[in-house]
Amino acid sequence: MVPTNRVVIVGGGPGGYEAAHVAAQLGAQVTVVDSDGIGGSAVITDCVPSKTLIATAEVMTEVTDAAELGVSFRDAEGDSAATVVVDLARVNARVKALAAEQSADIQRRLERDGVRVVHGRGRLAGPQQVVVQLAGGGEEVLDADAVLLATGAAPRTLPTAQPDGERILTWEQVYDLTEVPTSLVVVGSGVTGAEFASAYLALGIPVTLVSSRDRVLPGEDADASAVLEQVAVRRGMNVLSKSRMESVTRDGDVVTVTLTDGRTVEASHCVLALGSVPKTEDLGLAEAGVLVDEGGFIRVDRVSRTSARGVYAAGDCTGVLMLASVAAMQGRIAMWHFLGDAVAPLDLKQVSSNVFTAPEIATVGWSQQAVDNQEIEAEVVMLPLAGNARAKMQGVKDGFVKLFCRPGTGIVVGGVVVGPRASELIHPVSLAVAQSLTADQLAAAFTVYPSMSGSIAEAARRLHRV
Ligand SMILES: Cc1cc2nc3c(=O)[nH]c(=O)nc-3n(C[C@H](O)[C@H](O)[C@H](O)COP(=O)(O)OP(=O)(O)OC[C@H]3O[C@@H](n4cnc5c(N)ncnc54)[C@H](O)[C@@H]3O)c2cc1C
Repeated sequence: MVPTNRVVIVGGGPGGYEAAHVAAQLGAQVTVVDSDGIGGSAVITDCVPSKTLIATAEVMTEVTDAAELGVSFRDAEGDSAATVVVDLARVNARVKALAAEQSADIQRRLERDGVRVVHGRGRLAGPQQVVVQLAGGGEEVLDADAVLLATGAAPRTLPTAQPDGERILTWEQVYDLTEVPTSLVVVGSGVTGAEFASAYLALGIPVTLVSSRDRVLPGEDADASAVLEQVAVRRGMNVLSKSRMESVTRDGDVVTVTLTDGRTVEASHCVLALGSVPKTEDLGLAEAGVLVDEGGFIRVDRVSRTSARGVYAAGDCTGVLMLASVAAMQGRIAMWHFLGDAVAPLDLKQVSSNVFTAPEIATVGWSQQAVDNQEIEAEVVMLPLAGNARAKMQGVKDGFVKLFCRPGTGIVVGGVVVGPRASELIHPVSLAVAQSLTADQLAAAFTVYPSMSGSIAEAARRLHRV
């Protein structure tokens, strides 16, 4: 009989649990060790909670914009009701309940697949052994033919900006708020900062966004972040660009953010969105021969191998691209590789991602920046959504579709969609990039009339060359 492969996975987020499903499917004996809840930060504190909060924010945005479409609100006496308010305690209770249910659901599915779930903190004792400090007390030693490390990352804080869990908050702590902040400063204008600033603004809270760079979302398409910033400012956000935070302090009910140039911003609450640090300390990495980079992220190749034989790593702890979808794919790739299934190395140029702001920003493939830096030669077309019939009907004025294709072949190599539900609209572009379709092929598929996706086909048509 062929001996069963023993796989031990440390970390039960998307990097870990998706790998567990693959390994179980391929016949391995799988154990997942997790310290904070199956589903990981993705489900319990980050991705799922923030997108649930944003679902409420989207409704608020639609309600606020409804007047243009002829909708008005009346109270019981028939008088016009001017304000729509959000019950943050109920919103946050829903967020937490949904996250807990999702976590339980993932654990049930793992157990149905025959995966053993161990609650505790895992640590390598060499490349083929994991020692677990069990949550209920005691220790368990797990021998493994392969180990997958998927321990994730935690919010970065600074000595001068320490969260207190009440008014100075990391993104993990915002769901404990039971009262609506009277005003909010969000420090950090990367994806997380921009999403929270946009969501809380939509919920009716005056928001100041402190951005150390000259524009919000410095890592995204510049045209896209310009649209987002315009819309945010138009809706009342106070965007402080080129403003670096020095410290965040609290005095009673007032939080003060001091900038390096001496300016100060006061608010009732502050959310810190200063990036993430990998959870790779105390994992026994050095002893097991697993190398990390200068930021503490585990070094991996494109099939998720670390420097130690038989030890793989996936997700935020590798810092490759901090997305749940990438974590999950890295985890699956690790297991396909270890268990000898067909495997294609991770290709970041095929990753579609989305910023869940209002409007959303979705991207896939090569970027405008890469084209401008001549890393790739590509033709570019950008089509504003304002000319789209469906957009006009829905009162959508902001946003665009941008496509990049190779000059000779016309093969689509990337795209950007800015608009409502851009996260859904990017899929045909993602498919084109993944399958190396030409702009003509993308244009040839029918789109519904009227539809936002019609703009994707129209942009592709404009890339046609005779
Ligand atoms: C606010 C926010 C919103 C986001 N929204 C999105 C989004 O919309 N879409 C998207 O794709 N990505 C999103 N992300 C990114 C996404 O959450 C991460 O990329 C994803 O969580 C990474 O998954 P992971 O498995 O690597 O780690 P995690 O999800 O962090 O899971 C790791 C797990 O391992 C556990 N663990 C750590 N150390 C040990 C140990 N020693 N022993 C046992 N267990 C351990 C942790 O407690 C945790 O449960 C968001 C991130 C943030 C901060």
